[in-house]
Amino acid sequence: MSETTAHNDWPQPYRLLDAAPYWAALDEQRLTFQRCADCAEAVWPAHSYCPYCASSALNWAESAGRGTVYSFSTVMRGPTPVWASITPYTVGFVQMAEGYMLFAQIEGGPESIAIDQDVTVRFVERGAQTIPVFTAANPG
Ligand SMILES: [Zn+2]
Repeated sequence: MSETTAHNDWPQPYRLLDAAPYWAALDEQRLTFQRCADCAEAVWPAHSYCPYCASSALNWAESAGRGTVYSFSTVMRGPTPVWASITPYTVGFVQMAEGYMLFAQIEGGPESIAIDQDVTVRFVERGAQTIPVFTAANPG
């Protein structure tokens, strides 16, 4: 890369060891989560043991990247300059179709986002890490 931008200042995620496959998959633009082979619950955030049945038989599965907005909040004043550069921005919990909840940025102005709205994932590079953000799903 020959270009430097303020976006090199994006804070990088704190990578828990259990979630290492999640971050690696994101670099391939795949959104993943864990599913328990014993009780079939979707598990997120990543665990070593199933929080529902204590099984250690957790497998990685790929999400279709679709869900609905469960809650959201719009940030008007960024905590650091790089965040301030994209204000206002919205973050929130997305209820994923596979049955787990993911916290992420939700694109669009606050007036265009609503509880229960259908959203779909897209992938953006923030510094060295690719992360999922959500945007309004195309109707139909
Ligand atoms: Zn389980």
